Amino acid sequence: MQIKIAEIFESIDGEVNGFKGIGQLSTFIRFGGCNLNCTWCDTLDAKHKDKRYSYLTAENILKKCIFPKITITGGEPLYQDKELKILTEEALKLNKDITVETNGSYKIPINPDWTKLRYIVDYKLPSSNFNTRMNIANYENLCSQDIIKFVIYDDNDYNIAIKTMGEIIITFPQINTFALSPILENSLDFTIFMEKIREDKIYFINKNIIINVQLHKLVGGIR
Ligand code: SF4
Repeated sequence: MQIKIAEIFESIDGEVNGFKGIGQLSTFIRFGGCNLNCTWCDTLDAKHKDKRYSYLTAENILKKCIFPKITITGGEPLYQDKELKILTEEALKLNKDITVETNGSYKIPINPDWTKLRYIVDYKLPSSNFNTRMNIANYENLCSQDIIKFVIYDDNDYNIAIKTMGEIIITFPQINTFALSPILENSLDFTIFMEKIREDKIYFINKNIIINVQLHKLVGGIR
């Protein structure tokens, strides 16, 4: 089966990845195409209709993966769900550590091996324009090692993120880790953001909360 791929490249995991953490070397496999069109999308080349994609088998993709860790991202990987399943099955046979980054609009599939395969699932907030496509029922199959990420642009996003986090904790207590990812370039002041975290005593809930800053952007806009 051929998989529609926007690009494959080596870099660092600049965001939470469910394994060794931010900064881990990884090969990025960027799937082509996406079902959303978020305001803050920074991967336009992965979903532009005029983009020239490669069509590769899982075997050919994995031959390009030089690190023990791979990051499957997009676009939206679950937009090609059958292809994603084949790629992850083949990667597991090679003993790769696999992060799948997904936009939260699709139900997360049952994980065949949570020790090697972890999902980072966005919960899209109002500033993305796709909050209405979010449904926490999609998280039913998440495991304790997976992470839900909120990309936060303004106070309204922040308030909805905190409220939603509470709903998720009650509905799916197996979910242990949440990443709060402030968009710092244009909006939130990081000092004020951290002050809100302290005031709201977010860190007292019995879950892992990670403040996710995009390291790859801080070090000079590398991919
Ligand atoms: S889900 Fe991701 S790739 Fe798709 S439009 Fe939103 S930010 Fe871009």
